[in-house]
Amino acid sequence: MSSIVAIVGRPNVGKSTFFNRLIQRREAIVDAVSGVTRDRHYGKSDWNGREFSLIDTGGYVKGSDDVFEAEIDKQVVLAIEEADAIIFMVNVEDGVTGMDEDVARLLRKVTKPVFLVVNKVDNGKREEDAVEFYNLGLGEYHTIASINGSGTGDLLDDLVKALPEEEEEEVEEDAIPRFAVVGRPNAGKSSFINALIGEERYIVTDIAGTTRDAIDTKYNRFGFEFNLVDTAGIRKKSKVKEDLEFYSVMRSVRAIEHADVCLLVVDATRTFDGQIQNIFWLAQRNRKGIVVLINKWDLVEKDHKSTNEYEKHIKKQLEPFTDVPIIFISALTKQRIFKAIETAVEVYNNRTKRIKTSELNETLLPIIDNYPPPAYKGKFVKIKYIMQLPTPQPQFAFFCNLPQYVREGYKRYLENKLRELYDFKGVPISVYMRKK
Ligand code: GDP
Repeated sequence: MSSIVAIVGRPNVGKSTFFNRLIQRREAIVDAVSGVTRDRHYGKSDWNGREFSLIDTGGYVKGSDDVFEAEIDKQVVLAIEEADAIIFMVNVEDGVTGMDEDVARLLRKVTKPVFLVVNKVDNGKREEDAVEFYNLGLGEYHTIASINGSGTGDLLDDLVKALPEEEEEEVEEDAIPRFAVVGRPNAGKSSFINALIGEERYIVTDIAGTTRDAIDTKYNRFGFEFNLVDTAGIRKKSKVKEDLEFYSVMRSVRAIEHADVCLLVVDATRTFDGQIQNIFWLAQRNRKGIVVLINKWDLVEKDHKSTNEYEKHIKKQLEPFTDVPIIFISALTKQRIFKAIETAVEVYNNRTKRIKTSELNETLLPIIDNYPPPAYKGKFVKIKYIMQLPTPQPQFAFFCNLPQYVREGYKRYLENKLRELYDFKGVPISVYMRKK
Protein backbone atom coordinates (compact mmCIF):
# COMPACT_ATOMS: atom_id res chain seq x y z
CA MET A 1 0.00 0.00 0.00
CA SER A 2 1.49 3.27 -1.01
CA SER A 3 1.33 6.60 0.75
CA ILE A 4 -1.08 9.28 -0.38
CA VAL A 5 0.15 12.74 -1.25
CA ALA A 6 -2.41 15.47 -1.87
CA ILE A 7 -1.70 18.65 -3.80
CA VAL A 8 -3.70 21.64 -2.56
CA GLY A 9 -3.78 25.28 -3.53
CA ARG A 10 -5.72 27.92 -5.44
CA PRO A 11 -6.73 27.32 -9.04
CA ASN A 12 -4.16 28.22 -11.70
CA VAL A 13 -1.05 28.06 -9.57
CA GLY A 14 0.20 25.15 -11.66
CA LYS A 15 -1.00 22.14 -9.67
CA SER A 16 -2.07 20.10 -12.64
CA THR A 17 1.10 20.83 -14.62
CA PHE A 18 3.07 19.54 -11.67
CA PHE A 19 0.73 16.59 -11.21
CA ASN A 20 0.96 15.65 -14.88
CA ARG A 21 4.72 15.91 -14.82
CA LEU A 22 4.91 13.44 -11.94
CA ILE A 23 2.51 10.84 -13.24
CA GLN A 24 2.91 11.30 -16.98
CA ARG A 25 5.40 8.66 -17.90
CA ARG A 26 3.71 5.78 -16.14
CA GLU A 27 0.10 6.73 -16.66
CA ALA A 28 0.63 7.43 -20.34
CA ILE A 29 1.65 3.81 -20.72
CA VAL A 30 -1.34 2.55 -18.77
CA ASP A 31 -3.74 4.61 -20.85
CA ALA A 32 -2.10 3.66 -24.12
CA VAL A 33 -2.72 0.03 -23.19
CA SER A 34 -6.36 0.52 -22.31
CA GLY A 35 -6.93 2.94 -25.17
CA VAL A 36 -8.65 5.31 -22.77
CA THR A 37 -7.87 8.94 -22.22
CA ARG A 38 -9.26 10.54 -19.14
CA ASP A 39 -9.31 13.61 -17.10
CA ARG A 40 -7.04 12.47 -14.35
CA HIS A 41 -6.68 13.78 -10.84
CA TYR A 42 -5.26 10.65 -9.34
CA GLY A 43 -2.13 8.80 -10.28
CA LYS A 44 0.83 6.90 -9.04
CA SER A 45 4.33 8.20 -9.08
CA ASP A 46 7.63 7.05 -7.72
CA TRP A 47 10.91 8.59 -6.76
CA ASN A 48 14.05 6.77 -5.68
CA GLY A 49 12.05 3.55 -5.66
CA ARG A 50 9.29 4.86 -3.37
CA GLU A 51 5.85 4.63 -4.90
CA PHE A 52 3.13 7.00 -3.80
CA SER A 53 -0.37 7.96 -4.87
CA LEU A 54 -0.85 11.52 -5.90
CA ILE A 55 -4.14 13.39 -5.74
CA ASP A 56 -4.63 16.69 -7.48
CA THR A 57 -7.42 18.38 -5.58
CA GLY A 58 -7.89 21.29 -7.95
CA GLY A 59 -9.73 19.38 -10.61
CA TYR A 60 -12.74 18.95 -8.40
CA VAL A 61 -13.53 22.60 -7.94
CA LYS A 62 -16.35 23.66 -10.18
CA GLY A 63 -18.51 26.74 -10.28
CA SER A 64 -17.97 30.46 -10.10
CA ASP A 65 -15.14 32.30 -8.36
CA ASP A 66 -17.01 32.92 -5.14
CA VAL A 67 -17.60 29.24 -4.51
CA PHE A 68 -13.92 28.49 -5.01
CA GLU A 69 -12.86 29.60 -1.62
CA ALA A 70 -15.32 27.48 0.34
CA GLU A 71 -14.62 24.47 -1.86
CA ILE A 72 -10.88 24.80 -1.49
CA ASP A 73 -11.24 25.01 2.26
CA LYS A 74 -13.22 21.75 2.29
CA GLN A 75 -10.64 20.07 0.10
CA VAL A 76 -7.80 21.14 2.32
CA VAL A 77 -9.64 19.79 5.37
CA LEU A 78 -10.13 16.47 3.59
CA ALA A 79 -6.58 16.35 2.36
CA ILE A 80 -5.43 16.90 5.93
CA GLU A 81 -7.64 14.05 7.14
CA GLU A 82 -6.84 11.57 4.43
CA ALA A 83 -3.39 12.17 2.99
CA ASP A 84 -0.03 11.17 4.42
CA ALA A 85 1.64 14.33 3.16
CA ILE A 86 0.42 17.57 1.64
CA ILE A 87 1.94 19.71 -1.06
CA PHE A 88 0.66 23.26 -0.86
CA MET A 89 1.37 25.05 -4.09
CA VAL A 90 1.51 28.80 -4.54
CA ASN A 91 2.51 30.99 -7.47
CA VAL A 92 5.39 33.46 -7.22
CA GLU A 93 3.85 35.63 -9.96
CA ASP A 94 0.84 36.43 -7.81
CA GLY A 95 2.65 36.75 -4.50
CA VAL A 96 0.83 35.85 -1.29
CA THR A 97 -2.94 36.09 -1.80
CA GLY A 98 -5.75 36.06 0.73
CA MET A 99 -6.72 32.56 -0.31
CA ASP A 100 -3.14 31.38 0.22
CA GLU A 101 -3.32 32.77 3.73
CA ASP A 102 -6.58 30.90 4.39
CA VAL A 103 -5.09 27.63 3.24
CA ALA A 104 -1.93 28.26 5.26
CA ARG A 105 -4.00 28.88 8.38
CA LEU A 106 -5.53 25.40 8.03
CA LEU A 107 -2.18 23.82 7.32
CA ARG A 108 -0.30 25.40 10.21
CA LYS A 109 -2.18 23.20 12.68
CA VAL A 110 -1.30 20.00 10.86
CA THR A 111 1.13 17.46 12.23
CA LYS A 112 1.50 15.61 8.92
CA PRO A 113 4.32 16.71 6.62
CA VAL A 114 3.37 19.83 4.66
CA PHE A 115 5.48 21.06 1.75
CA LEU A 116 5.06 24.65 0.72
CA VAL A 117 6.01 24.80 -2.94
CA VAL A 118 6.47 28.09 -4.74
CA ASN A 119 5.87 27.52 -8.43
CA LYS A 120 6.96 29.38 -11.56
CA VAL A 121 10.33 30.28 -10.07
CA ASP A 122 12.45 30.17 -13.20
CA ASN A 123 15.01 32.91 -12.64
CA GLY A 124 17.09 34.54 -9.91
CA LYS A 125 14.77 37.50 -9.54
CA ARG A 126 11.83 35.24 -8.83
CA GLU A 127 13.96 33.27 -6.40
CA GLU A 128 14.31 36.52 -4.44
CA ASP A 129 10.59 37.30 -4.76
CA ALA A 130 9.78 33.92 -3.24
CA VAL A 131 10.99 34.96 0.23
CA GLU A 132 7.65 36.66 0.86
CA PHE A 133 6.10 33.21 1.29
CA TYR A 134 7.85 32.92 4.64
CA ASN A 135 4.99 35.15 5.77
CA LEU A 136 2.65 32.16 5.48
CA GLY A 137 4.22 30.80 8.65
CA LEU A 138 4.89 27.36 7.21
CA GLY A 139 8.65 27.57 7.47
CA GLU A 140 10.99 26.57 4.67
CA TYR A 141 9.62 26.30 1.16
CA HIS A 142 10.73 24.69 -2.08
CA THR A 143 10.93 26.64 -5.30
CA ILE A 144 10.16 24.90 -8.56
CA ALA A 145 9.18 25.55 -12.14
CA SER A 146 6.57 22.93 -13.02
CA ILE A 147 6.76 23.80 -16.64
CA ASN A 148 10.32 22.54 -17.07
CA GLY A 149 10.64 20.48 -13.92
CA SER A 150 13.43 22.45 -12.28
CA GLY A 151 13.49 22.08 -8.51
CA THR A 152 11.18 19.06 -8.47
CA GLY A 153 14.04 16.64 -7.79
CA ASP A 154 14.94 18.29 -4.48
CA LEU A 155 11.29 18.52 -3.53
CA LEU A 156 10.70 14.83 -4.23
CA ASP A 157 13.83 13.83 -2.31
CA ASP A 158 12.43 15.56 0.76
CA LEU A 159 8.89 14.37 0.16
CA VAL A 160 9.67 10.65 0.00
CA LYS A 161 11.87 10.95 3.09
CA ALA A 162 8.89 12.32 5.00
CA LEU A 163 6.43 9.58 3.96
CA PRO A 164 5.54 6.92 6.52
CA GLU A 165 7.22 3.53 6.31
CA GLU A 166 5.87 1.51 3.43
CA GLU A 167 3.79 -1.53 4.25
CA GLU A 168 4.22 -4.20 1.68
CA GLU A 169 1.15 -6.14 0.76
CA GLU A 170 2.20 -9.55 1.94
CA VAL A 171 1.42 -12.94 0.61
CA GLU A 172 0.10 -14.65 3.71
CA GLU A 173 -1.11 -18.15 4.19
CA ASP A 174 -4.72 -18.35 5.36
CA ALA A 175 -5.09 -14.60 5.45
CA ILE A 176 -8.60 -13.26 5.88
CA PRO A 177 -9.90 -11.40 2.82
CA ARG A 178 -10.14 -7.64 3.14
CA PHE A 179 -13.14 -6.14 1.40
CA ALA A 180 -13.76 -2.45 0.79
CA VAL A 181 -17.24 -1.18 -0.03
CA VAL A 182 -16.83 1.74 -2.40
CA GLY A 183 -18.98 3.81 -4.72
CA ARG A 184 -20.52 7.21 -5.22
CA PRO A 185 -22.37 8.99 -2.45
CA ASN A 186 -25.90 7.58 -1.96
CA ALA A 187 -25.27 4.46 -3.99
CA GLY A 188 -26.21 2.49 -0.86
CA LYS A 189 -22.84 1.60 0.64
CA SER A 190 -23.94 2.05 4.25
CA SER A 191 -27.21 0.27 3.58
CA PHE A 192 -25.31 -2.61 2.05
CA ILE A 193 -23.01 -2.86 5.05
CA ASN A 194 -25.99 -2.73 7.39
CA ALA A 195 -27.81 -5.40 5.42
CA LEU A 196 -24.71 -7.50 5.67
CA ILE A 197 -23.82 -7.11 9.29
CA GLY A 198 -27.08 -6.01 10.87
CA GLU A 199 -26.64 -4.34 14.20
CA GLU A 200 -22.94 -5.08 14.18
CA ARG A 201 -23.79 -8.15 16.24
CA TYR A 202 -21.45 -10.18 14.16
CA ILE A 203 -18.31 -8.29 14.94
CA VAL A 204 -15.69 -10.72 16.06
CA THR A 205 -12.84 -8.40 16.90
CA ASP A 206 -11.97 -4.82 16.31
CA ILE A 207 -8.37 -4.62 15.22
CA ALA A 208 -6.83 -1.23 14.82
CA GLY A 209 -5.86 -0.95 11.20
CA THR A 210 -2.31 -0.65 10.08
CA THR A 211 -2.88 2.85 8.85
CA ARG A 212 -3.84 5.72 11.04
CA ASP A 213 -7.46 5.97 10.15
CA ALA A 214 -8.42 2.80 8.38
CA ILE A 215 -9.91 0.13 10.54
CA ASP A 216 -10.33 -3.48 9.62
CA THR A 217 -13.28 -5.04 11.32
CA LYS A 218 -13.49 -8.80 11.23
CA TYR A 219 -16.85 -10.40 10.52
CA ASN A 220 -18.14 -13.89 10.24
CA ARG A 221 -21.23 -14.04 8.04
CA PHE A 222 -22.81 -16.84 6.05
CA GLY A 223 -19.88 -19.02 7.00
CA PHE A 224 -17.34 -16.63 5.50
CA GLU A 225 -14.71 -14.80 7.48
CA PHE A 226 -13.67 -11.45 6.12
CA ASN A 227 -12.47 -8.03 7.15
CA LEU A 228 -14.40 -4.99 6.10
CA VAL A 229 -12.03 -2.17 5.40
CA ASP A 230 -13.57 0.80 6.99
CA THR A 231 -12.37 4.32 6.62
CA ALA A 232 -13.48 6.80 9.21
CA GLY A 233 -16.13 7.97 6.77
CA ILE A 234 -18.01 4.77 6.17
CA ARG A 235 -19.37 4.33 9.66
CA LYS A 236 -19.34 7.81 11.02
CA LYS A 237 -19.85 10.47 8.47
CA SER A 238 -17.34 13.26 8.60
CA LYS A 239 -18.18 16.85 9.31
CA VAL A 240 -17.63 17.58 5.68
CA LYS A 241 -20.69 16.89 3.56
CA GLU A 242 -20.37 13.78 1.54
CA ASP A 243 -21.91 15.12 -1.64
CA LEU A 244 -18.54 16.45 -2.60
CA GLU A 245 -17.17 14.23 -5.35
CA PHE A 246 -13.65 14.83 -4.20
CA TYR A 247 -14.60 13.43 -0.84
CA SER A 248 -15.70 10.09 -2.20
CA VAL A 249 -12.61 9.81 -4.38
CA MET A 250 -10.31 10.64 -1.50
CA ARG A 251 -12.03 8.12 0.76
CA SER A 252 -12.05 5.54 -2.00
CA VAL A 253 -8.33 5.88 -2.61
CA ARG A 254 -7.56 4.96 0.98
CA ALA A 255 -10.11 2.15 1.18
CA ILE A 256 -9.17 0.66 -2.18
CA GLU A 257 -5.46 0.68 -1.50
CA HIS A 258 -6.05 -1.12 1.77
CA ALA A 259 -8.34 -3.84 0.41
CA ASP A 260 -7.91 -7.11 -1.47
CA VAL A 261 -11.30 -6.94 -3.14
CA CYS A 262 -13.42 -3.86 -3.81
CA LEU A 263 -17.19 -4.11 -3.81
CA LEU A 264 -18.25 -1.30 -6.08
CA VAL A 265 -21.81 -0.31 -5.20
CA VAL A 266 -23.72 1.27 -8.09
CA ASP A 267 -27.17 2.87 -7.92
CA ALA A 268 -29.27 1.10 -10.55
CA THR A 269 -31.64 4.04 -10.78
CA ARG A 270 -28.92 6.45 -11.87
CA THR A 271 -26.71 6.48 -14.94
CA PHE A 272 -23.42 4.67 -14.85
CA ASP A 273 -21.17 7.68 -15.25
CA GLY A 274 -17.56 8.78 -15.34
CA GLN A 275 -17.32 9.03 -11.57
CA ILE A 276 -18.15 5.34 -11.20
CA GLN A 277 -15.68 4.54 -13.96
CA ASN A 278 -13.06 6.50 -12.04
CA ILE A 279 -13.55 4.44 -8.89
CA PHE A 280 -13.50 1.25 -10.94
CA TRP A 281 -10.32 2.43 -12.60
CA LEU A 282 -8.76 3.22 -9.21
CA ALA A 283 -9.35 -0.36 -8.10
CA GLN A 284 -8.08 -1.79 -11.36
CA ARG A 285 -5.06 0.49 -11.36
CA ASN A 286 -4.19 -0.77 -7.87
CA ARG A 287 -4.65 -4.35 -9.10
CA LYS A 288 -7.41 -5.11 -6.62
CA GLY A 289 -10.14 -7.67 -7.08
CA ILE A 290 -13.47 -6.12 -8.12
CA VAL A 291 -17.13 -7.10 -7.80
CA VAL A 292 -19.73 -4.74 -9.20
CA LEU A 293 -22.94 -4.61 -7.15
CA ILE A 294 -25.88 -3.05 -8.92
CA ASN A 295 -27.91 -1.89 -5.95
CA LYS A 296 -31.55 -0.73 -5.56
CA TRP A 297 -32.56 -3.41 -8.04
CA ASP A 298 -35.91 -3.50 -6.20
CA LEU A 299 -36.68 -0.12 -7.77
CA VAL A 300 -36.09 -1.21 -11.33
CA GLU A 301 -39.03 -2.21 -13.49
CA LYS A 302 -38.05 -5.63 -14.74
CA ASP A 303 -38.84 -7.75 -17.73
CA HIS A 304 -37.16 -10.99 -18.81
CA LYS A 305 -34.17 -9.30 -20.43
CA SER A 306 -33.42 -6.55 -17.90
CA THR A 307 -30.35 -7.98 -16.23
CA ASN A 308 -28.80 -9.12 -19.50
CA GLU A 309 -29.14 -5.78 -21.15
CA TYR A 310 -28.06 -3.87 -18.12
CA GLU A 311 -25.03 -6.09 -17.75
CA LYS A 312 -24.05 -5.61 -21.38
CA HIS A 313 -24.36 -1.87 -21.01
CA ILE A 314 -22.16 -1.83 -17.92
CA LYS A 315 -19.49 -4.04 -19.43
CA LYS A 316 -19.24 -1.57 -22.27
CA GLN A 317 -18.40 1.13 -19.71
CA LEU A 318 -15.78 -1.05 -18.03
CA GLU A 319 -13.77 -1.81 -21.15
CA PRO A 320 -11.17 -3.10 -21.57
CA PHE A 321 -11.35 -4.91 -18.22
CA THR A 322 -14.70 -6.66 -18.48
CA ASP A 323 -14.02 -10.03 -16.88
CA VAL A 324 -15.75 -8.77 -13.75
CA PRO A 325 -18.72 -10.24 -11.86
CA ILE A 326 -21.83 -8.07 -11.83
CA ILE A 327 -24.47 -8.85 -9.20
CA PHE A 328 -27.91 -7.31 -8.95
CA ILE A 329 -28.76 -6.65 -5.32
CA SER A 330 -31.05 -4.75 -3.03
CA ALA A 331 -29.63 -3.58 0.25
CA LEU A 332 -33.21 -2.78 1.25
CA THR A 333 -34.74 -6.23 0.73
CA LYS A 334 -31.41 -8.00 1.26
CA GLN A 335 -31.77 -9.67 -2.10
CA ARG A 336 -28.55 -11.47 -3.13
CA ILE A 337 -26.48 -10.06 -0.27
CA PHE A 338 -25.19 -13.57 0.34
CA LYS A 339 -24.34 -13.93 -3.35
CA ALA A 340 -22.40 -10.66 -3.21
CA ILE A 341 -20.18 -11.90 -0.39
CA GLU A 342 -19.83 -15.35 -1.88
CA THR A 343 -18.65 -13.76 -5.13
CA ALA A 344 -16.24 -11.45 -3.32
CA VAL A 345 -14.70 -14.51 -1.66
CA GLU A 346 -14.40 -16.20 -5.07
CA VAL A 347 -12.67 -13.14 -6.49
CA TYR A 348 -10.34 -13.12 -3.49
CA ASN A 349 -9.48 -16.74 -4.17
CA ASN A 350 -8.90 -15.98 -7.84
CA ARG A 351 -6.56 -13.19 -6.87
CA THR A 352 -4.49 -15.38 -4.58
CA LYS A 353 -4.41 -18.27 -7.05
CA ARG A 354 -0.95 -19.66 -7.79
CA ILE A 355 -0.35 -21.76 -10.84
CA LYS A 356 2.65 -24.03 -10.99
CA THR A 357 5.27 -23.26 -13.61
CA SER A 358 5.07 -26.79 -14.97
CA GLU A 359 1.33 -26.55 -15.43
CA LEU A 360 1.51 -23.12 -17.07
CA ASN A 361 4.05 -24.38 -19.55
CA GLU A 362 2.13 -27.54 -20.32
CA THR A 363 -1.07 -25.67 -21.08
CA LEU A 364 0.21 -22.46 -22.64
CA LEU A 365 3.23 -23.43 -24.71
CA PRO A 366 1.16 -25.54 -27.14
CA ILE A 367 -1.30 -22.66 -27.50
CA ILE A 368 1.57 -20.28 -28.21
CA ASP A 369 3.08 -22.74 -30.72
CA ASN A 370 -0.24 -22.82 -32.50
CA TYR A 371 -0.50 -19.05 -32.66
CA PRO A 372 2.92 -17.49 -32.04
CA PRO A 373 3.54 -13.76 -31.72
CA PRO A 374 3.39 -12.21 -35.19
CA ALA A 375 6.83 -11.41 -36.65
CA TYR A 376 7.78 -7.81 -36.11
CA LYS A 377 10.29 -5.97 -38.32
CA GLY A 378 11.16 -9.34 -39.80
CA LYS A 379 12.08 -10.81 -36.41
CA PHE A 380 10.52 -13.90 -34.91
CA VAL A 381 9.78 -14.01 -31.20
CA LYS A 382 10.28 -17.33 -29.47
CA ILE A 383 8.56 -17.71 -26.10
CA LYS A 384 10.52 -20.28 -24.09
CA TYR A 385 8.75 -20.58 -20.79
CA ILE A 386 6.21 -18.95 -18.51
CA MET A 387 6.18 -18.29 -14.81
CA GLN A 388 3.75 -16.74 -12.36
CA LEU A 389 5.61 -14.18 -10.25
CA PRO A 390 5.47 -14.45 -6.43
CA THR A 391 3.44 -11.24 -6.07
CA PRO A 392 0.26 -10.64 -4.05
CA GLN A 393 -1.75 -10.43 -7.26
CA PRO A 394 -1.48 -12.44 -10.48
CA GLN A 395 1.43 -11.43 -12.67
CA PHE A 396 2.92 -13.61 -15.36
CA ALA A 397 6.33 -13.43 -16.98
CA PHE A 398 6.79 -14.84 -20.48
CA PHE A 399 10.48 -15.42 -21.11
CA CYS A 400 11.51 -14.95 -24.72
CA ASN A 401 14.35 -13.87 -26.98
CA LEU A 402 12.93 -10.50 -28.10
CA PRO A 403 10.51 -9.19 -25.47
CA GLN A 404 10.47 -5.70 -27.02
CA TYR A 405 8.92 -7.08 -30.21
CA VAL A 406 5.79 -8.47 -28.60
CA ARG A 407 2.89 -6.11 -29.27
CA GLU A 408 0.05 -5.18 -26.91
CA GLY A 409 -2.46 -7.12 -28.96
CA TYR A 410 -0.58 -10.35 -28.42
CA LYS A 411 -0.21 -9.72 -24.69
CA ARG A 412 -3.97 -9.22 -24.59
CA TYR A 413 -4.35 -12.55 -26.36
CA LEU A 414 -2.18 -14.25 -23.72
CA GLU A 415 -4.15 -12.61 -20.93
CA ASN A 416 -7.41 -13.86 -22.41
CA LYS A 417 -6.01 -17.39 -22.66
CA LEU A 418 -4.94 -17.25 -19.01
CA ARG A 419 -8.45 -16.11 -18.09
CA GLU A 420 -10.08 -18.89 -20.13
CA LEU A 421 -7.86 -21.55 -18.62
CA TYR A 422 -7.69 -20.56 -15.00
CA ASP A 423 -10.63 -18.28 -14.08
CA PHE A 424 -9.35 -14.93 -12.93
CA LYS A 425 -12.80 -13.39 -12.86
CA GLY A 426 -12.78 -10.02 -11.11
CA VAL A 427 -9.00 -9.83 -10.98
CA PRO A 428 -6.71 -7.58 -12.99
CA ILE A 429 -3.74 -9.61 -14.20
CA SER A 430 -0.44 -8.47 -15.64
CA VAL A 431 1.48 -10.06 -18.48
CA TYR A 432 5.15 -9.21 -18.86
CA MET A 433 7.65 -10.17 -21.52
CA ARG A 434 11.08 -10.88 -20.13
CA LYS A 435 14.39 -11.42 -21.88
CA LYS A 436 15.81 -14.93 -21.77
P1 GDP B 1 -24.15 5.63 0.83
O1 GDP B 1 -23.98 7.10 0.77
O2 GDP B 1 -23.54 4.97 -0.37
O3 GDP B 1 -23.72 4.98 2.10
O4 GDP B 1 -25.73 5.37 0.65
P2 GDP B 1 -26.83 5.02 1.75
O5 GDP B 1 -26.66 3.61 2.21
O6 GDP B 1 -26.88 6.07 2.77
O7 GDP B 1 -28.16 5.02 0.86
C1 GDP B 1 -28.63 6.17 0.20
C2 GDP B 1 -30.15 6.11 0.07
O8 GDP B 1 -30.54 5.01 -0.78
C3 GDP B 1 -30.85 5.88 1.38
O9 GDP B 1 -32.01 6.67 1.38
C4 GDP B 1 -31.20 4.38 1.38
O10 GDP B 1 -32.33 4.10 2.12
C5 GDP B 1 -31.45 4.14 -0.11
N1 GDP B 1 -31.15 2.75 -0.50
C6 GDP B 1 -29.99 2.10 -0.29
N2 GDP B 1 -30.06 0.85 -0.80
C7 GDP B 1 -31.27 0.69 -1.33
C8 GDP B 1 -31.96 -0.39 -2.02
O11 GDP B 1 -31.43 -1.47 -2.26
N3 GDP B 1 -33.22 -0.14 -2.45
C9 GDP B 1 -33.84 1.03 -2.24
N4 GDP B 1 -35.09 1.16 -2.67
N5 GDP B 1 -33.24 2.07 -1.58
C10 GDP B 1 -31.99 1.91 -1.14
